[in-house]
Formats: sequence, structure tokens, C-alpha cells
Amino acid sequence: MSGLTGNDGNMARQRREMVEQLKCYGIGNPRVLDAFMTVKRHLFVEAASRPYAYDDCAWPIGYGQTISQPYTVAYMTSLLVERCPSGKVLEIGTGSGFQAAILDALGYRVFTIERIAGIYEMAGRALDNQGIPVARRLGDGTLGWPEEAPFDGIVITAAAPHEPETLLHQLADGGVMVVPIGDLGSQQMTVIRRVGERFEHEFFHGFAFVPLCGREGWPDTPA
Ligand code: SAH
Repeated sequence: MSGLTGNDGNMARQRREMVEQLKCYGIGNPRVLDAFMTVKRHLFVEAASRPYAYDDCAWPIGYGQTISQPYTVAYMTSLLVERCPSGKVLEIGTGSGFQAAILDALGYRVFTIERIAGIYEMAGRALDNQGIPVARRLGDGTLGWPEEAPFDGIVITAAAPHEPETLLHQLADGGVMVVPIGDLGSQQMTVIRRVGERFEHEFFHGFAFVPLCGREGWPDTPA
């Protein structure tokens, strides 16, 4: 076992097992499954979680935040890929950087925003060390990235109390947002497509995310 990366062969086997499990859970999109075969989740978790990196679990990444469970990332990514197969995607809530790496592996041009400086830096190191080209910004993601808008896709990986208006207006015409909306205990996965100045909604399963905090999210908590 090399201290930094773990045993690569062993990790590759565990990664294949994770992908088989995702298939059993109903993730069928071959592009999404390929991305999960490619991205090394063990390089996005803390050292203590590394032996369990391919379990279908959310793990702490510090500052009270978590890397999302693989199933959740695969589910959200499938919703995006099936409606918006390519283009420019903005992620809100960089966290570990894993979701951003999955989006990059799928061929999107990826932009991601994180509000906690320590997490922003950690994710930056994980992505840079692996040469994954993701544009990153530190700040309140509910305000979006106006200089880079419009986006073909926006993925929000934290729990929104309501539809984030500013972000919706940074979608391209035909663009799609994937966002969990609800209270702090559970949220309904929601897909919103922009059609001109109208927004069409689809509703999916319930999930439990850490809160989206910011001007158009929950009131700020000290980070
Ligand atoms: N996509 C991440 C999931 C991380 S958890 C991954 O693959 O690991 C959600 C993250 O959203 C946390 O790091 C939290 O700090 C961040 N977050 C919460 N509110 C935010 C906001 N308004 N802007 C940017 N990031 C936010």
C-alpha cells in the first residue's frame, strides 16, 4: 500500500465492484458508469476513509461537510446526462471535487463554486494533483458565475430551500438544472429546464444533502 494513493490494483477492483452495485441500484447510463470506472474516488476522501472510499457511503471531508454517496452522484449525473449530453456545466458545492471530476470525465467544460475556503483548497489540490481541468471559484454559489453564464447545465450538490432564482437565469435556453429542494431533513430531486423565459419541472426521489447556505439558500452558518 503506497501511503498516498493506496494500492491501485486493489482500488481498481473496489471501483469495479462499486460500479456493479450502482447497476444493481438502477444506474444504467453507460457514459455515467464509464465515468465512475475512471474517476479515483479514493483520491477525493480523507486518508482515514480511503479504505472505504468505494463503499456506497457519504464520508466526512471536514468543516461538517461530506462527499456525496456514489449512488447520489450517479443519480444526479444521469439526470443531467440524459437531458444535457454536452456543453458547459456549473456545479454549486465543490466539496471533495469528486462530482466535478465525474463531470469532467463525461466531457463537460466544468465550473464549480465552493463557499468554505478550507474545502475549496483541498478540492483544488485533489483536482490539480490528478491534472483534472476544472475552473474553480471560492464564494457563494447561489449567486452563480455571471461572467461565464449561460450554462447548459447547473448541478447543485447541497440542499436548496427553494428554487435558486439567480442560478435559473444563468441557464442557457434549453439548459437544465438538477437540484435537491426541500427542508433540512430531506429534499426532492428536481430537474428544471429553461425554455425561453419559462421553466419546466420534473420531480424525482427524496435525498438528504448538507444545506446550501448563502444569499439564495439557507441563512449562513459559521464555516
Ligand atoms: N459535490 C460535492 C458534494 C459536497 S457537499 C462532492 O462531490 O463531494 C456540499 C458542499 O456544498 C459543501 O462543501 C458545502 O460547503 C458547499 N456549499 C454549501 N452552500 C454553498 C454555496 N452557497 N456556495 C458554494 N458551495 C456551497
